[in-house]
Amino acid sequence: MAATSTRSAGKARGARTVYYFGDGKADGDRTRRNLLGGKGANLAEMCRLGLPVPAGFTITTEVCTAYDRAGGRYPAGLKQAVSKALSRVEKSMKKRFGDAQNPLLLSVRSGARVSMPGMMDTVLNLGLNDKTVVGLAERSGSERFAWDAYRRFVQMYADVVLGVKAEAGKEVAPFSEALEAMKKKRRVEEDTDLSADDLRELVATFKSIVRKATGKAFPEQPEAQLWGAIGAVFGSWNTERAIAYREMNNIPGDWGTAVNVMTMVFGNMGEDSGTGVAFTRDPATGERIFYGEFLMNAQGEDVVAGIRTPMPIDQLAAVAPTSWKELLRIQKLLEDHYRDMQDIEFTIESGRLFMLQCRAGKRTGFAAVRIATDMVREKRITKEEALLRVEPAALDQLLQPVFDADEQAATRRDGRVMTTGLNAGPGAATGRIVFTPERAVELAAKGEPVILVRIETSPEDIKGMQAAEGILTARGGMTSHAALVARQMGKVCVAGAGELMVNYHDWVMGVGDTILEEGDWLSLDGTTGEVINGRLATQPSEVDTALFGTKAKAKKAQAGQTWKCFSRIMRWADGARRLRVRTNADQPDQCKTAVAFGAEGIGLCRTEHMFFGEGKIDAVREMILSDTLAERKAALKRLLPLQRRDFEGIFKEMGTRPVTIRTLDPPLHEFLPHDDDAIRELARSMGVPAEQLRNKVDSLAESNPMLGHRGCRLGITYPEITQVQARAIFEAACNVAKKTGKKPRPEVMIPLVGDAAELASQAAITHAAAEEVFKRKKMRLPYLVGTMIELPRAALTAGAIAAEAEFFSFGTNDLTQTTWGISRDDAGKFIPIYVDEEIMPGDPFASLDTAGVGRLMEIAVADGRGARAGLKIGICGEHGGDPASIDFCHHLNLDYVSCSPYRLPIARLAAAQSALRD
Ligand code: PEP
Ligand code: MG
Repeated sequence: MAATSTRSAGKARGARTVYYFGDGKADGDRTRRNLLGGKGANLAEMCRLGLPVPAGFTITTEVCTAYDRAGGRYPAGLKQAVSKALSRVEKSMKKRFGDAQNPLLLSVRSGARVSMPGMMDTVLNLGLNDKTVVGLAERSGSERFAWDAYRRFVQMYADVVLGVKAEAGKEVAPFSEALEAMKKKRRVEEDTDLSADDLRELVATFKSIVRKATGKAFPEQPEAQLWGAIGAVFGSWNTERAIAYREMNNIPGDWGTAVNVMTMVFGNMGEDSGTGVAFTRDPATGERIFYGEFLMNAQGEDVVAGIRTPMPIDQLAAVAPTSWKELLRIQKLLEDHYRDMQDIEFTIESGRLFMLQCRAGKRTGFAAVRIATDMVREKRITKEEALLRVEPAALDQLLQPVFDADEQAATRRDGRVMTTGLNAGPGAATGRIVFTPERAVELAAKGEPVILVRIETSPEDIKGMQAAEGILTARGGMTSHAALVARQMGKVCVAGAGELMVNYHDWVMGVGDTILEEGDWLSLDGTTGEVINGRLATQPSEVDTALFGTKAKAKKAQAGQTWKCFSRIMRWADGARRLRVRTNADQPDQCKTAVAFGAEGIGLCRTEHMFFGEGKIDAVREMILSDTLAERKAALKRLLPLQRRDFEGIFKEMGTRPVTIRTLDPPLHEFLPHDDDAIRELARSMGVPAEQLRNKVDSLAESNPMLGHRGCRLGITYPEITQVQARAIFEAACNVAKKTGKKPRPEVMIPLVGDAAELASQAAITHAAAEEVFKRKKMRLPYLVGTMIELPRAALTAGAIAAEAEFFSFGTNDLTQTTWGISRDDAGKFIPIYVDEEIMPGDPFASLDTAGVGRLMEIAVADGRGARAGLKIGICGEHGGDPASIDFCHHLNLDYVSCSPYRLPIARLAAAQSALRD
């Protein structure tokens, strides 16, 4: 994008483009978040609340979108609107932009609808030039301060707006090099030891660097500086890292960012100035304490960038008591007003407090459930609001493992704990050390768990952070980039481990004599902040222990804060949701876990998974390899009691809950050995020549097995397979009913049906088997026969299929595969590229493609229920555990979603949120 063009991009249909805020007045308010971005809307709101906000104005997100579409041209009238707003700011602050005596200086910042921490650009101290710097020096009473501000401005502007970066092959930008050279020349250690004259000289050097790099002089005109910065901030919406962040967080590319232009206030004007960030509650645990950190005599970026390690917020009481009292009052007022935990940014300029930002604070999953439930108890919000405050996926953090307590205690005794940093992202992580985000991505792709070790992280590291199990930094506080981003991603993170040496040249890290290299094992405890040498076993979370631990352990865990909040949220969610939740499980222990996590039935039991169990695979193989019907029947007879026992185990666990059992689905070839040794071994055990067996295995191979002889096609060609499976199901159900007195509710599900006649054939076999068993057992049980809808033709002929089916279950894994014509097993090669290129908004195998696959589902629901009123319909593909897909299923009016046991809490909450949003 052209950075400084102010040419018109046509009329924006008279829409207002600039919103002023200052002196307790604001054109906008917090309801205009989409237009003003989160930061702009909240600055306006804080002004309306009478809080001390430096005056400024917001250029809307619509301008960004228009500017983007018009290839770097602004909507008509923007220039006049900005200049009008700037005059109001000048009047309010009693300073003039570009004035040599009393200059107004500005910050120019991004601010999207949702916060994208550190992803876009900022320019500070704008408006400084060789004349205004003199005015600033006089007004502030410090020449050194003014030249330092000017020096920082030239550096930042050159980097962000003019694109002057490090030369190829060099690690540091030329400005840092010049700064270091100056310090060396003056024989000083710290930047703060340089004099006003040194800084003046540096400004001149910086400007010559700019001239050399760009071929142009550094812009002296404040107005030109302002438009350059506005263009750069809008442009930063489309940087690689911002796009990567949007993809990860499903933020649409056409939302755009607003630009906030605000009067500069200085936290670095001396010892009675400072800056800080704080949360109205602890963002890691959710505890109700005012939590944060500050630095005296510093600019805001110093705190967030993690360059200096700041002080805990309560120490402000001693350093700046008046501001501390005012801050306490404001933080309370903001939390009361917004009725949510707030993340605030403030600056104290010469003893005067200013609020620079407030927003709903990012929090861990632990903090989310605690804050939501506490706020209900404090009568600030309703249970319904509490449910909507917790991101369903964040619950996953509560289920993550922790380290084995005994082993961890041993590491403390034997010196394996290398150091302790800040507990920025809770949980336990263990993995191999890597020092670059690229290596993290590379090793993680090979299935290696990795720990990303950095001096400090920057937004460029985002992909590596995503790939890592845990993140360790040597510098930075609880609100440093690493901490914020890790918390949001739900990653384990230890930040600001100050004792840690990290050397990017030799790829080593260490503390004292302990030096570790890339590839060595490292463990991080994000709850205590401990950095542990070596690999440590992990153990179940508090939630897991509360549910499945031994009696004593469970009791202790149930008294813990996490379990209490979690179970409360789950209880409320169950009261609010309409969708039922089931689980995909095929073993009794999985059923037990699932029931504990709230499963109301089984939505999919894949019988083929049982075939690999102890003693079964041989009988299965004999059945597959049989040449005659008699041989096949004999093998199936051996399989029957084994299958029956499996089903009995499941029915026992599930009691009277419905259990959907699918008849055999995969191509038979999947059950056979393929390499020569295994074939020889099987031939020996079957007493047949290896050559003969090899020929048989080869004859069963298919070009496209996923589209081949599988699903109901197997049951149609070998009806005895369906017969025996159905018999095993009904016999097991009758046996369990007799033994426990509880009537199981089997639901037999036929896979890969494309036509009603296919289902009719399999349903007839199943009903006949049921009748035969009930007669023999002298009892009847309620049962259903239904089908998966996992082929487009099934969805399109759902009306006819419903005449035969007593229920439908969407197999959206196959339905996605067959609708797109994309092989489930090969999609990984190109879908990530499609997503990168924005050809697809996301992976359709992870989150439902509502436009295509969803459209087929709509047809199937309408036609299915049209043909059979009240037809029960669920979903059992992987999408059944994805919040966005669950929302779609809610609106399709499905009866239930089914997902893996550990995703059940997410599904319950997502289903509740869908119901509440209605
Ligand atoms: C599906 O296709 O969505 C499904 C649940 O079945 P499977 O994954 O076993 O093919
Ligand atoms: Mg399937």
